Amino acid sequence: MKVLKFGGTSVQSASMMKKVSDIISSEDAQIIVLSAMSGITNQLLAITNHLQKNEISKCLEILEKVNLAHHTVIYELLSDETHRKKAIQNIQFYIERAKQLIQQSLNKQIANELLSFGEQMSTSIFYEYQMMLGRKVYFLPALNFMRLNADKEPDMQKINVLLQNLIPNTSAGELYITQGFIALNENDEIDNLGRGGSDYSATIIGAALQADVIEIWTDIDGVHNNDPRYVENTFPLRELSYNEAAELAYFGAKILHPTCIVPAQKTKIPIFLKNTMEPMAAGTIITQNSNKQNIKAIAAKDGIIAIRIHSSRMLNAYGFLRKVFEIFEKHKTPIDLITTSEVSVSVTIDDDKQLFEILNELKDFGTVEVDRNQSIICIVGDFLAANKGIVAQILNSINEIPLRMVSYGGSDNNISLLLNCDDKIRTLKLLNSRLFTKQVDEIFKQN
Ligand code: ADP
Ligand code: ASP
Ligand code: MG
Repeated sequence: MKVLKFGGTSVQSASMMKKVSDIISSEDAQIIVLSAMSGITNQLLAITNHLQKNEISKCLEILEKVNLAHHTVIYELLSDETHRKKAIQNIQFYIERAKQLIQQSLNKQIANELLSFGEQMSTSIFYEYQMMLGRKVYFLPALNFMRLNADKEPDMQKINVLLQNLIPNTSAGELYITQGFIALNENDEIDNLGRGGSDYSATIIGAALQADVIEIWTDIDGVHNNDPRYVENTFPLRELSYNEAAELAYFGAKILHPTCIVPAQKTKIPIFLKNTMEPMAAGTIITQNSNKQNIKAIAAKDGIIAIRIHSSRMLNAYGFLRKVFEIFEKHKTPIDLITTSEVSVSVTIDDDKQLFEILNELKDFGTVEVDRNQSIICIVGDFLAANKGIVAQILNSINEIPLRMVSYGGSDNNISLLLNCDDKIRTLKLLNSRLFTKQVDEIFKQN
């Protein structure tokens, strides 16, 4: 059995939904995980922002656009009257429900319910389409099995049991349509896996059902060596290891949700990244091992805060770092990078919800400096200490960029740099042209 996830652009129009339908017409049983149509989650988010300011007419205006986008797809996709009517009824249900929610004052639950409608609507249209085509298709509501625990993490035990009860066995040609992104939390309220969370839904489902493969279909031909949103002449990578992909995803490669590699890695299920617009393109395969290559890919993550704690009490003292880390643990704030000297320690965080409280407690240890507006650039590859000269090569290629932190040796796969966000794009470009000179030249010649 396979799990296939299609992202927002893959379901954004009737013609794209037809392409998706062609891709899934294979012999295997398949779980189809769909995102909301492109841009819809952003519009639902905009509704919650307007609702917070009590701008009801703006909410209704956006809701009408959302309604229209779905109706356009329905009219172009569903030629059969019965299925078209059913799809219209479904969309109407969510639009009416949204109108009810907009009458109330905003809270987390209302916002999360509104945000869930994108995936609920796209899947209901696609399900009707598959019914119309006469496929052996079942609707599998994500809220019937996707559960979060108190830490807002997927509750894998519950999910395994629920999914295995819902799909005890499958046979060839069966299709199960489900929503990515959305989940029920420990209080049985509608919640989600965070932005871009449909990738995570797919790998969670794949792991729970021991799928043969998890395919993530998107709008690009696999994971590229650098961020194509900022850098020209990037190229797709054929192979990545779970570790390499996890680093790239966590440190900002938007093509993958930050933690979606974990369930697949634990269960050793391969992930394939494929392009819906070009199904024959090779794409990227992510497995336990991959081709060894010194420097393979680069990603960047914004919104980073650097905190430096300077204290002479650190000199020759033990237990100091534990005390510092306990403060972050107490405030449930994960640390990404760490560098230390004999008298100071620098850490980075990307969640500033508890920053004020953290700084207040850190002040007891010494002087604390905070730098906001930082970016982490993560360089992924095979960085065994025996491979000499790699750090020098990286740093030489960006010697005109001021660096705030450099982290090397934490793993064999990652070298991370911290720099001012304003230098990010320039750095990504320099790294691309100077670390991948041969490949970039070849692309240049081809164009
Ligand atoms: P989907 O809606 O299918 O989930 P996303 O927009 O979330 O698609 O992810 C695909 C996009 O990720 C690409 O269009 C590309 O702009 C961006 N991206 C960022 N970094 C990378 C990378 N290293 N390789 C490929 N795509 C990347
Ligand atoms: N629709 C959600 C989002 O835009 C989830 C996803 O697309 O993966 O974040
Ligand atoms: Mg995505």
